[in-house]
Amino acid sequence: MNIHEYQAKAVLKEFGAPVSRGIPAFTPEEAEKAARELGGPVWVVKSQIHAGGRGKGKFKELSPDAKGGVRVVKSVEEVKASAKEMLGNTLVTLQTGDAGKQVNRLYIEEGAAIDKEFYLSMLIDRETSRVAFVVSTEGGMDIEEVAHSTPEKIVTFSVDPATGIQPHHGRAVAKALKLSGDLAKQAGDLVTKLYAAFTAKDMSMLEINPLVVTKDGQLKVLDAKISFDSNAIYRHADVAALRDETEEDAKEIEASKFELNYIALDGTIGCMVNGAGLAMATMDIIKLYGMEPANFLDVGGGATKERVTAAFKIITADPKVKGILVNIFGGIMKCDVIAEGVVAAVKDVGLKVPLVVRLEGTNVEAGKKIIKESGLNVIAADDLDDAAQKIVKAVKEAK
Ligand code: GDP
Ligand code: MN
Repeated sequence: MNIHEYQAKAVLKEFGAPVSRGIPAFTPEEAEKAARELGGPVWVVKSQIHAGGRGKGKFKELSPDAKGGVRVVKSVEEVKASAKEMLGNTLVTLQTGDAGKQVNRLYIEEGAAIDKEFYLSMLIDRETSRVAFVVSTEGGMDIEEVAHSTPEKIVTFSVDPATGIQPHHGRAVAKALKLSGDLAKQAGDLVTKLYAAFTAKDMSMLEINPLVVTKDGQLKVLDAKISFDSNAIYRHADVAALRDETEEDAKEIEASKFELNYIALDGTIGCMVNGAGLAMATMDIIKLYGMEPANFLDVGGGATKERVTAAFKIITADPKVKGILVNIFGGIMKCDVIAEGVVAAVKDVGLKVPLVVRLEGTNVEAGKKIIKESGLNVIAADDLDDAAQKIVKAVKEAK
């Protein structure tokens, strides 16, 4: 689960990390009030969306030479004018895709005078099963680009959970950022606080880009992005309360209500599968035959008819979906339950695209019978390969 920058900074502040003073705002009037409260003389008006690259982003509704989604301004009037331009408009950045994201919240911050910009992130390293730090002097830039063109400028290390964060970790960060004296001490202090926040809140990723040194010699978190481990949210009611559903895919929210493992993708073939491995294989084989999956969907082992119906409705409601492939290998999941769910959903919402169904395993005959007797226009398939070829062919012919 992701949260907004202003929320991330509040979490880090709880653990004592240095952040600028700031106030969230939902209207131009609130932005103006926040600016007066902060006092200036320099403010930063920051669009709050769950995507990076806001500074270099462009608003769809504004002229191409209008300023981006992060603006440094020098008067209360400019704060209000920028707020008016940003709120309700669509910000397109390298990370949002062409559709962009509507800006509904702003963060008004006191401006910092920047001397240097660095990069610091933390994540779970699956290879070492540890929390890893990634640090670079090349802040404020696209870190993937740095990793690609100048990998020697990126320093990484991981922390042994048995001993936790140690003074040498702080020294490693200071060295990587070429900091000495008091700034090295500040770096050590920051690293300790960030590690405490990361582990206490079950984060899966924390990215600070940029971490800056201000002209008066202070290390400061200027931008912050946090992702939390979704499987641990139940332990943190305070974190759960930060969720902004308007930033999430409506189909994924609906799916989570029915405990379906669903992820929206960009392709045209909707998939309903049981088991994550089979779902992955199904996506692979659709690609092999030249098309792209519209989603990942694992209905799970013990899905009920209601859950299957919900899953099918989510798939059909997606306008990108030009064909549907149901691929079930019945084990614990019974084929007749799947068949009943599919038939119920089609009766409810209709079927405007080709549907290929491949059933195998427990109660397969009963499942096939239900589909046959329903009178639905279903293309039956024998195995995974056959099913993928049939749906690709059907979608091509339907065009
Ligand atoms: P992003 O573009 O979504 O990553 O948003 P950031 O929060 O990283 O802001 C983009 C850029 O705006 C930063 O890299 C800074 O160069 C600049 N910026 C942000 N806050 C301040 C500030 O307080 N003072 C100054 N001078 N620049 C800032
Ligand atoms: Mn940034």
